[in-house]
Amino acid sequence: MAQALVLERQRVLSLREIDLPWRMGPGMVRIRMDVVGICGSDVHYYRHGRIGPFVVDRPMVLGHEGAGTVVECGPGVSHLRPGDRVCIEPGVPDFSSAESRLGLYNLDPSLTFWATPPEHGCLTPEVIHPAALVWPLPEGVSQAEGAMVEPLAVGMQAVTRARVRAGDVAVVLGSGPIGIVTALCALAAGCVRVLIVDPAQEKTRIAAQYDGITALEPGDSGLAPQVLAATGGRGADLVFECSGAAAAYAGVAGLLRAGGQLVCIGMPVAEVPVDLVALIVREIRVVTSFRYANVYDRAIALMAGGRIDVKPLISATYPFARAIEAFERADAARPDDVKLQIAFGG
Ligand code: ZN
Repeated sequence: MAQALVLERQRVLSLREIDLPWRMGPGMVRIRMDVVGICGSDVHYYRHGRIGPFVVDRPMVLGHEGAGTVVECGPGVSHLRPGDRVCIEPGVPDFSSAESRLGLYNLDPSLTFWATPPEHGCLTPEVIHPAALVWPLPEGVSQAEGAMVEPLAVGMQAVTRARVRAGDVAVVLGSGPIGIVTALCALAAGCVRVLIVDPAQEKTRIAAQYDGITALEPGDSGLAPQVLAATGGRGADLVFECSGAAAAYAGVAGLLRAGGQLVCIGMPVAEVPVDLVALIVREIRVVTSFRYANVYDRAIALMAGGRIDVKPLISATYPFARAIEAFERADAARPDDVKLQIAFGG
């Protein structure tokens, strides 16, 4: 039995003992959790008890954005040792599946993911996880930053999938944590400028504190003229759709230059009507991006090298004992909150 933050059912959280199914064995490591970030998906499960087909029909431990310290290595683990500070990929694929053997382990249909029913998450003082999905943090990258690698990896996957070229101008639709980290990854990948927009202007103001990121004024008619004005009438090379809002797709072709790329990251809750003709006649390349594969090491290196600074995105940190309060604050969705984190120990 272990203490954990448990989502009992929709809107009911408790901090209590629970039996966790993880066991040590070959290739596994035991990790003491230090910091866990609260993700939009954790809050969504709390509010609605489900995300699409994934339904919380029994108590589930929340949390999947984790950093910790290795306390024990199972047989055959060679790249980690007790005491290593690490961050953790929360999705566990079958490494022998057809998708994994293509390098697309994020798309393995048998993949289990922390805090996606029925899998428990990492808001508990200790987890056991495959060492292959555990990444050491270099000196200079804190545990709080380590817990930001998971959302950063989503942005890394998007810019990797999209083939960003040096000097590109990108538009990012949505200025939540994923929108902002995608903007930072786009800049690190070579974009010279990122234009970001969100109905919540407090959020775009936070994003625009970074060099290279400019906030656009939200509004139904005003977006294309602003993008054209900012790109000498040409249109953006890339649009990263990070909001998941169906409305974001209306008129999206009008933001892009001929031959530009529309990168779909935000997960819509329903079918999205898209004006395909508008995309075809401008040869817009549509790219989709889901979670991440093979990007953690590069995300960590960008942090360690000072190329991406996620520290300004951490809005507040709560001790584990006050984890429920942290979720209530996340649920309240204060417009100036980007990422809330929960810290274990002292
Ligand atoms: Zn997340």
